[in-house]
Order: sequence, then structure tokens, then C-alpha cells
Amino acid sequence: MVTQMNDNGHLKHPPGGSDGSGVATSIVPDVFQKAIEHVPVATSITDMHANILYANPAFEALTGYAQDELIGKNESILSDKATPLKIYQELWKTITSGEAWNGRLVNRRKDGSKYLADLTVVPVMDDDGHVMHYMGMHRDVTDLHQLERKVKNQDALITSVVEAAPVVIVLVDTQGRVVFSNPAYKDLKRELGGMEVADRFAQGLQDSLGQNIKDLCEKGFDFAAVEVGVKTEAGDTRWFACSATKVEEQDMTASGYFAGDGLCGMLLVASDITHQRRRYEQARTNAVRALMAEQQMVQGMREVISGAIFQLQGPLNVMSAAASMMERQGKTESALKEPIHQVISAGQAALERLKASMPRMADEPIEPLNINELIREVLDVSIEGLLKEGIVVEWHPAAVLPNVPGRANALRSMVKYLVDNAILAVKDGGDVRELLITTRTTESGDVLMELRDSGPGFADDILIKAYEPFFTAWAKTRSRPGMGLVLARQIITDQGGSIEIGNAFTGGGKVEVVFAAGSLGAGPRGFEQGGLTP
Ligand code: FAD
Repeated sequence: MVTQMNDNGHLKHPPGGSDGSGVATSIVPDVFQKAIEHVPVATSITDMHANILYANPAFEALTGYAQDELIGKNESILSDKATPLKIYQELWKTITSGEAWNGRLVNRRKDGSKYLADLTVVPVMDDDGHVMHYMGMHRDVTDLHQLERKVKNQDALITSVVEAAPVVIVLVDTQGRVVFSNPAYKDLKRELGGMEVADRFAQGLQDSLGQNIKDLCEKGFDFAAVEVGVKTEAGDTRWFACSATKVEEQDMTASGYFAGDGLCGMLLVASDITHQRRRYEQARTNAVRALMAEQQMVQGMREVISGAIFQLQGPLNVMSAAASMMERQGKTESALKEPIHQVISAGQAALERLKASMPRMADEPIEPLNINELIREVLDVSIEGLLKEGIVVEWHPAAVLPNVPGRANALRSMVKYLVDNAILAVKDGGDVRELLITTRTTESGDVLMELRDSGPGFADDILIKAYEPFFTAWAKTRSRPGMGLVLARQIITDQGGSIEIGNAFTGGGKVEVVFAAGSLGAGPRGFEQGGLTP
């Protein structure tokens, strides 16, 4: 059947069907005409030269031309210079060869305004396969084009920002798989020998926040500046401040059109803070060093005064005993009585003055302490002494250690006394110069620190006297006052813990310190906090 136009531009068709039955085919053109009148797509039918024979109301509405202004005019009435010539050439080359053409071109309305048209031209052939007419359908896709360009522009902007960002950006799915990463992430991965850094970030976040990526995604939990350490192959730790936000990607497949939920992921942004962290740690070490130096100075004065009190107390006790003996023997008239009493009271007065001049240790609050951190601080402070003696420190902190309550400065001093003792012990030892420090949680939930040195170990007679004030048995360092273990024991017992010295089965000395996990009480009687009460 060949559909034709009447003079009014209306579709006309021969009566009856092309098959002569006059039944269904006679209805189809009527239906077709009505449908095309109402179809919301600008539709036109032209002759072989694109002269318009018919245009539907949607065409009038879109172009602003009325039917009578269109009929007989060429479709080029809509052409705009913004469309390159090669587009028209392609269009014509395609449709004259009997193929349908689809493409976009810029059209101009009657009022001169322009719009982007998505045009499809279909050749209509006669029974012999010759092109008789063309049918054109186009719609205004200016908004769609704007949207596409907007998305593209935004995409280009986001891509350039993400690519140029000096921070690490990585998108991981709920399984922790990397979906997208920026060049900074790839550089970091390369630097770390191909390690999938996102896994380390995820592990670090789980350790810090107690939630895995899946939980964080499901709960929509955003966080900022969580510090995560990543161990490098060389054994150093690189530190990153990690922030993350939940990202939901909409399902773009056809079957996902009606589905609400998209794919969930976490966008992790990490900036390298290793440098700042090192500076902070250095500053902190310096502060700890200064604090400990001050504390050691006070402690030194206390040791000297305690020593003097100790030395004075002995003869005074002897004098007092002699005086009481004389009294018991009735030698009250002895010429010595008066001078002895004078010496005793002068001695007592001197003792009181010495006790009064004893500098007090600063009062310290009890706070939750990470013993690993505390030991590391002491090692940082002791590094020079350890290096000077060529001692290799093996530091094996427990990966997870509960915080214990305690007085940080006093406990730092306590660990320092033990490390200093270990240095002296190693000096007295053989060629091996090692100090092994480990921490772990005991079955009762306390924290245990073990120090093993490669020194000569504790001989039996030394073990008995080791906690005696002013007892010292160092072979190569005679100048020590012999108060380290006394003070160390005093500090730890004062804080509810304990200390035990002995020998490692591998040789060398061993010191075990238990830091009590329970809350601190008043501490054992007879000891003043952080100092010695003679
Ligand atoms: P023209 O000189 O008319 O054409 C540009 C080039 O197209 C010529 O150099 C030539 O290579 C080729 N060309 C033109 N006419 C023919 C032809 N009869 N046979 C072979 N090649 C030819 N154009 C629009 O701008 N907007 C429309 O919405 C639009 N709808 C159309 C719908 C239909 C059904 C058809 C058949 C054509 C439609 N055209 C449309 C194309 C239109 O006919 C013009 O070709 C076009 O507008 C360019 O016109 P012009 O005067 O700028 O240049």
C-alpha cells in the first residue's frame, strides 16, 4: 500500500486494503492518521526532496510554525548554521540509499530560538523499492543535552580534582575491594611494595572504631581524622589521618530501574601525617625527657637525703640504746649522761631537719595508661644510653593491651630504673649485648612487662640483697647509689602492682613487673607515693 497526501496535507489512502479485502487494511490508515495526529513527537512526511507534505500538531508546537506555513516548504526551514554541513550530507547519503538515519542537529524555530533536535528520518518506499517519501520524527533534546554536558563537566571536574589531589582517595565496596583509586593511592601502593593499602586502612579503622567496612556502610557511619598506622616492609610505620563517607551508587542496569537500593561503598580519604606525627612524638619525647630529668633530680636529692638519714639513724640508734642501758644499770649520775643526751637530741633534731628538707614528689593523678606507649617513651628517652653501650633492644609489645590505671610519670621512672639497671647489667655481661622487652595480658587481666638482659644475671647473694637500700654490686659501674630496684619496687607496689627479679633460663637477668588492672587503692602501708619513707 502506498500512503499519499491530499492537498490539505492530510494522509489519504486508496479505499479498501491493498489486498482488496477492504477489511483490516482500510482501518489501519485511519488509525495511523489519528495516532500520528496525537503522537507527542514532531512528525512530518516529505516528498523525495524534503518538501513537507504533512506535519503533525507536535511539529507545529515544537517549531512554532502553523500547518499552512509548513506545507510545501522544505525541511531546511528549520536548519541552523550551527549544524555542520557534513551532518546533512551524512543524512542524505543514508536516506537516499534507502536506510533510516538518526542523529542530532541544531534546529531554529519560527521565533529564531534554537533547540537541539534528535531526528530520525525513515525512507518510505513503493512496492518496487523506490524511495517515494521520507518520514521525519524529531524531539527537543536540549534539556537532555544540557544534563549530559553537566554530568560530563562535573565528571571532568571531579576527575581532575581527584587526580590532582595530594591525598589518597580510594573507594572500597562492602567486601573491602578497591573499586576506584586515585593516582596518590596508586603511588602509595607502589611505594609500599604493592601492598593493598585499603586493606590496612580497613584493619586500622576496625581496630580504632571496632567496626568493619560492611558495618560502617550499613550503618551509614561517617568519620573524620581517625589515625591509622601502616607498617611498611622496612618495619617503619606510616601514619594516615583517615576520613570516610558512605557512598551509594545507583544501579544503572535496566532491571535496576525500579529498585531503590544501589551499591554501597566507603569513600576513604587519607592524608599522610607521618611527618607531623614524628614531630609530635619528638616533642612529646622531649617533654617526657624534661619531666623525667626533673623527676630524677628530685629523686636524686631524695636519695642523698635518704642516705644521710640512713647513715645518721644507725649511730643515733646505738647512742639511744647506750643511754637506755645506762639508765637501766642505774648509772644516772654518769658524767657521760648529759653529753649523750645532748648528742642524741642534736642528732634527732638533725634527722628532723633532714626529713623536712626532703623534696616532695609532685602529686600525680591516676589515669588510664597504655603500658606499651609508656615503655616506648622510656625507650625513646633511653636511646642514647642504649646506643652508647651498643645494646640491641628487642621490643615486642602485645598487639592489644588493656589500659591500666596508674601514675604515668612515676611508672615511667620505674621502667627507666629497670632499663638503666639492664644497661649496667649488659655492661657487666659478655659479648652479647641485648635487651628484650615484652608485654602481655595476664590471665587475671593485668598487664605484665618482662625485661631480659644479656648481663650476668642475679647471683644468689645479690638476689637476697637486691632490694636493700644502697646495695650495689655492679662490677664496672661502682658509682651507683644502689637505689634503683628499691625505688622501682616502691613505685609499682604503691600502684597496686608487683615486681619480681630472677634469672632467665637462657641466662641473664629477668625482671617481671605486673601493672594491676584493678582500680588503685591506698597502696601498701609505709610508702609515700613515688618516694621512700625512711
Ligand atoms: P542544503 O543545501 O539544502 O543541504 C545541505 C547538504 O545536504 C547539501 O550540500 C547536500 O549534500 C545534501 N542535500 C540536500 N538536499 C539533498 C537532496 N535532495 N538529495 C541529496 N543530498 C541533499 N534539516 C534540518 O535542519 N532540520 C530538520 O528537522 C530536518 N528534518 C528533515 C526531515 C526529513 C524527512 C528530511 C528528508 C530532511 C530533513 N532535514 C532537516 C534536512 C533538510 O532537508 C536539509 O537538507 C537541511 O536542513 C540543510 O538545509 P540547507 O538549506 O542548510 O542546505
